[in-house]
Amino acid sequence: MLTRHLLKQASTCRHFLLNSKTSSPFLTKSILFTSSSSSPESQSPTNTFVDDKVKDQYPTGTSISIDRSALYNLPEHSHEPTSDSELVKHLKGIIKFRGGPISVAEYMEEVLTNPKFGFYISRDVFGAEGDFITSPEVSQMFGEMVGVWAMCLWEQMGRPKQVNLVELGPGRGTLMADLLRSASKFKSFTESLHVHMVECSPTLQKLQHHNLKCFVEDDNSDGVEKRTVSMLAGIPVSWHALLEQVPSGMPSIIIAHEFYDALPVHQFQRASRGWCEKMVDVSEDSMFRFVLSPQPTPATLYLMRRCKWAAPKEIEKLGQIEVCPKAMDLTRTIADRIRCDGGGALIIDYGLNGVVSDSLQAIRKHKFINILDNPGSADLSAYVDFASIRHSAEEVSEDISVHGPMTQSQFLGALGINFRVEALLQNCTDEQADSLRTGYWRLVGEGEAPFWEGPDELVPIGMGTRYLAMAIVNKKQGVPVPFQ
Ligand code: SAH
Repeated sequence: MLTRHLLKQASTCRHFLLNSKTSSPFLTKSILFTSSSSSPESQSPTNTFVDDKVKDQYPTGTSISIDRSALYNLPEHSHEPTSDSELVKHLKGIIKFRGGPISVAEYMEEVLTNPKFGFYISRDVFGAEGDFITSPEVSQMFGEMVGVWAMCLWEQMGRPKQVNLVELGPGRGTLMADLLRSASKFKSFTESLHVHMVECSPTLQKLQHHNLKCFVEDDNSDGVEKRTVSMLAGIPVSWHALLEQVPSGMPSIIIAHEFYDALPVHQFQRASRGWCEKMVDVSEDSMFRFVLSPQPTPATLYLMRRCKWAAPKEIEKLGQIEVCPKAMDLTRTIADRIRCDGGGALIIDYGLNGVVSDSLQAIRKHKFINILDNPGSADLSAYVDFASIRHSAEEVSEDISVHGPMTQSQFLGALGINFRVEALLQNCTDEQADSLRTGYWRLVGEGEAPFWEGPDELVPIGMGTRYLAMAIVNKKQGVPVPFQ
């Protein structure tokens, strides 16, 4: 099944007529989660640990030695023209001028979000024409259910008059558009909102502006900054590069859907001399390759912190560990804001409720490829370590509580997606009903859809148990829906 999905890129797509979304067999980033072995050591079969040359030299066991001769003898700089992309030249430049390899995390961060050449920076990477597909793009029901969650939390907060509704990494802005469209009937809720989109990509910011049907208010008062307002619910919208830039002082509802998986991870390998960080280097034939760091690296501090949170048994069985310092730091920022201002955060992503071993994967045009292959042309993502998010948030304050993770299927089911799909099915054509059922399966189902009658290679795969939902709230809000 996995092979079929990796090798066959579907040539057609069908459209939701109800909401113009794509119901397609295209790859969700979590597909390997079930298709690969469930053993933590083999979370990503496409992710070879070291490049083949090194692997051939040291074929067995987890305690491998690595040829480090190239670390400090980088190839002479050549003035001959190369076909390297600007990002590849940039990465090789960093490695050359740094005088040694860079961490996998630095590589991942440059590849995804380098301000000039990053994967997310200058294009729309979602949907059938893009590289992968996400839940909000599968069905409008996803954003609607997240809207129900946000509204319930607002009720639990005592219906505050002013709330920051923050989305981290909003992609095309589809989730927020569906949320606002469905919430617009509840005026007292929407009137309290100021939407803040935290997005690093100028291209995606423009797309979000368009999809939220934003306009800049015509205001004649001099010196007052003009407001951008979404016509979907008549509420102000602002954009920021960082969560820290979102104004504080009022309660926040923060949504992070498939955001954490894009944060850079450090990878560690157990070797005879202990845990060594896996680094990206340039070989003599000018290709990227993995090597192990000869000395402890700064990220080792995060590895130690992560290991402290785990039971020794959990660590002992692992030959590799991934840690995501940015996820830990972001969680602390979220928890601290919620502690000060009140509110809560919802994190939905694919991952594990425990230590992640080796999950980093690259997807280009709905196919898995090698992580080092033409960087910048493929998405890189890693499983989210939900246990580490829990510990990071709980360490901030006793006033913070963390709930879940539960599966996406449980989460959407408890919020009423079954009723929503039934209501939509009451009033649609056969073709629309078909698309709705497919979208519904993809959001809450597990494995291949049993009702599917179309071509084998287009069979929809459920994301219901591969994606997990977790909430972080200020304790004074009580236990959030539907985690009771
Ligand atoms: N939530 C969306 C998109 C997920 S893809 C959906 O589910 O469809 C990840 C998103 O996060 C993209 O919008 C990307 O541009 C943004 N992003 C990735 N790293 C970021 C960072 N460090 N800061 C801000 N935005 C980032």
